[in-house]
Amino acid sequence: MGETQGGHTGTARGVTGRRALLIGGAAAAVGTVALARDELARLWWRLPGVEKPRVAGAVDFRGAQWVSASSANYRRADRPDDYGIDRVVIHVTQGSFRSAVKVFQDPAHGAAAHYIVRKDGHITQMIRELDVAFHAGNREYNERSVGIEHEGFVEQASSFTVAMYAASARLTAGICRRYGIPVDREHVIGHVEVPGTDHTDPGRYWDWDRYMALVRRAHRTQA
Ligand SMILES: [Zn+2]
Repeated sequence: MGETQGGHTGTARGVTGRRALLIGGAAAAVGTVALARDELARLWWRLPGVEKPRVAGAVDFRGAQWVSASSANYRRADRPDDYGIDRVVIHVTQGSFRSAVKVFQDPAHGAAAHYIVRKDGHITQMIRELDVAFHAGNREYNERSVGIEHEGFVEQASSFTVAMYAASARLTAGICRRYGIPVDREHVIGHVEVPGTDHTDPGRYWDWDRYMALVRRAHRTQA
């Protein structure tokens, strides 16, 4: 064990060495091997021009249906390796589900979110979570967040259905779990709370208490 812990100084291997030290004892050797592999997997993608492999049609949330947004409405990235993800931004489409899908496919629109949740709870994913979607109107917030649209209108209380809240809460809980995001109102925010925005969504009829309770419950129970 002493050899494993003491042998790594300086250079990239030092990082592994320090982490191994934290693990300590009999687990150190096993930990070093696992961490070295993990580190390699993480660092490889950082080489210029190298991207994570992508499977056509793959989604980040099980059950979501993939419909690709126009590549003009997002920026390819390698999150969370290049940008950490620590926010979920809640939006309302101000139109039908169908019209939201259509504008996100329109290269002239200049904006799109990662997901759209339909009234009946159906979830469509249009941009991979590793990419930066143009949904928050704020570059830093786009880079650090996942955006979820909800079909409906901010001034129409009936837009927000039981099925929509339930599906969206599962989706947000999954995002929080994947990136270690705390399930609270500092990290799960409305578009209206993005600095500098003039957008009001999700609006006064979005029931935050109810929604966050559902997210917390889903977060606790998801495997
Ligand atoms: Zn919005």
